[in-house]
Amino acid sequence: MGFNKAMRSGITLTNATRFTKTQRIGDPLLQVPPARRGNRTGAPRSVPLAKRGNLRPRSVPLAKRGEPEGGGQFANFARALGTSLLTILILALVACSAPPKRTATAPTAPASPTALEPAPQGVLQVAFLDVGQGDSALITFPNGKTMLIDGGETSEGIALVGKLRRLGVQQIDWLVATHPHSDHIGGLIQVLKAFPVAEVWDIGMPFESPVYRDFLLAVRGARSPDGKRPKFRVVRRGLTLEPAPNVRLSVLAPSEPLLTGTRSDPNNNSIVLRVDAPGGSFLFTGDLEREGRARLYTTRPNLRADVLKVAHHGAENGTDRAFLSRVNPTVAVIPVGAGNRYGHPHRETLALLQGRRVYRTDLHGDIVMRLGADKKLQIATTRVAPTQPTAQTKPAPAVGVVIGNRNSKVYHRPDCRGLPKPQNQVRFRSAQEAEQAGYRPHTCVYGE
Ligand SMILES: [Zn+2]
Ligand SMILES: [Zn+2]
Repeated sequence: MGFNKAMRSGITLTNATRFTKTQRIGDPLLQVPPARRGNRTGAPRSVPLAKRGNLRPRSVPLAKRGEPEGGGQFANFARALGTSLLTILILALVACSAPPKRTATAPTAPASPTALEPAPQGVLQVAFLDVGQGDSALITFPNGKTMLIDGGETSEGIALVGKLRRLGVQQIDWLVATHPHSDHIGGLIQVLKAFPVAEVWDIGMPFESPVYRDFLLAVRGARSPDGKRPKFRVVRRGLTLEPAPNVRLSVLAPSEPLLTGTRSDPNNNSIVLRVDAPGGSFLFTGDLEREGRARLYTTRPNLRADVLKVAHHGAENGTDRAFLSRVNPTVAVIPVGAGNRYGHPHRETLALLQGRRVYRTDLHGDIVMRLGADKKLQIATTRVAPTQPTAQTKPAPAVGVVIGNRNSKVYHRPDCRGLPKPQNQVRFRSAQEAEQAGYRPHTCVYGE
């Protein structure tokens, strides 16, 4: 299984209760919640320690690259521990009496209202920001340089700028629009007005929409840190960058020529990029769908990554078994809005992610990951997720005839304002019948 190697290189994954200035990142012994010190908001951190059994620090070794995870993983981990003298890990293991539960819907990072804090120097920080039904992630490199990947809808722009300020952002070195859909670029308009931006990355695909037009206008009106205009760069596969020493950033997609005639050309031409740092790697996939994935494989890129930003908000067309086995992430992040009309994340995607640690912005709020010099990945979130998302566990309601959308596999009440186009409608005699056919309820079904 390769855990010996993982242990030797010190690759472990730990939960952060909060990030503090004095706390050495990644030291599991220091991740026991501090005793109310500096607790400004009270709520999650005032829970007595005794009740926080499942919030204890834990170190989960990241799977060795190139090998799939298996059922006997924890046993192997324990065996590896027996031969290794990593006292810290042993102590951390003792702290959690049971093997870490790794289910798709019950992640264990404790909530921390202070998760959104500036990254300390020397740490790679990736903040997956809750922008409702949209996508946004800020990478702060160990040298302080910043890359913002997408920014949610226009309506999220002001809140996004506020979050970036809390994260200590003073300028954006690379602002990446993975593709021109409004749930990715809308919020960037406000960001371009609020911060100096050195470079804007775009796929350069002709796309008619008021939001994309406003985005391009905002790029034109923005200023760069040197007082000029941001550099507008159409990016393609093959572009690589060393944003900080020992950190490598690679653009894996799109390739030239851009895909056309797919279910969604903007989605399938999304900028896909990976970040490799000592101790961990991240893969960002935009809204890539099936056709875009197939195209990606033809160039045989290294897709293996410790953390996967799940494509297309957890839609069924954004993830499949083959892709997951290539990436083999230990942690998956789904940027998704609660009760969205697309039924994201889809049940099929969550099923495929079973056994990996899944974080969702609709359940966890902002999800902040840090990778320090000790090569341990710490994760803190601004909200505690319910153990089981209610939408997945409610029984089918008795609402009579319902109308399904054969594309999104979501069903609606016949009087819903968000009914699918007539050609995409499927009629079911009951909600139960729709659910048996694999459809999920729209919020209208529960009387929104
Ligand atoms: Zn999207
Ligand atoms: Zn999209």
